[in-house]
Amino acid sequence: MAVAKILLFYKFVPLADPEAVRAWQLELCSRLGLRGRVIVAPHGINATLGGDVAACKDYLKAIRRYGPLHDVDASWSDGTGLDAAGRSLDFPRLSVKTRPELVAFGVPELAVDGDGVIGGGARLTPEELDALVADREDVVLFDGRNRIEATVGRFDGAVVPEVDNTHDFIAELDSGRYDDLRSRPVVTYCTGGVRCEVLSVLMRQRGFGEVYQLDGGIARYLERFGSRSRWRGALTVFDAREVVVPAGATPIGTCHSCGAAASGLRNCREPVCRIRLVTCTQCATGKVSCTDHSQRSDQESMSEATAP
Ligand SMILES: [Zn+2]
Ligand SMILES: [Zn+2]
Repeated sequence: MAVAKILLFYKFVPLADPEAVRAWQLELCSRLGLRGRVIVAPHGINATLGGDVAACKDYLKAIRRYGPLHDVDASWSDGTGLDAAGRSLDFPRLSVKTRPELVAFGVPELAVDGDGVIGGGARLTPEELDALVADREDVVLFDGRNRIEATVGRFDGAVVPEVDNTHDFIAELDSGRYDDLRSRPVVTYCTGGVRCEVLSVLMRQRGFGEVYQLDGGIARYLERFGSRSRWRGALTVFDAREVVVPAGATPIGTCHSCGAAASGLRNCREPVCRIRLVTCTQCATGKVSCTDHSQRSDQESMSEATAP
């Protein structure tokens, strides 16, 4: 029986010929009828794909036969459904691209070897994160996502940097705004973990002495603990669902239009405008628009293919 699934993974590993990997991925995903997004870079691969569960399994089998990806650790979530041809309803199409970086921080010189990114923060499981926060009162939870994502969901008490996309992080870290955190334990977190692989390196390079990263990201944390935890609100994702609201979660966002409590994010209706607006269920049925359309589509804002 056909069952819709969403498959997510990333892997930092040197890929000698990203263009060849791209062509292979495009052929493989097309043949299996998968939709979604795959990014291939000299430093690895990042994918979120949707389709029938059997096709997803065949895909994983195929990529694990390729040496650099033999140990890919994918996470699974339930898809919305499949169309009559068995294609995922969670993604409008398949996109497979090569990029200079897996995540667009503007640091293509990042060092990666067979074990992954070199110089990143120590990995914490969800349990270890909770234990660290319980043990040490000076722990800083540092949001590694774009600020709009944090407006609808974040860890309780988290520091939320003023960034519209991952490109902004370097200037933000170099601004001096977070210098007083450098002597404290800092845990970076993002949706599925891929952004923290890079962000934690950047922080260590800038003198943060004790940096951790939440392994598997918020997605894995919520799988373990759900909303009865240190998490508040909803989780933004990179497919048609836009956000996932954990069972029992209380919205922390405020609708841009009517001011009601809200977890939804909607794109501004102006096609070239990249602004996403916190929008309640009711206002989402009408026209969603910002005022000045200041964030244009030439800015790369979608920075993480991997999502829960
Ligand atoms: Zn509203
Ligand atoms: Zn706009």
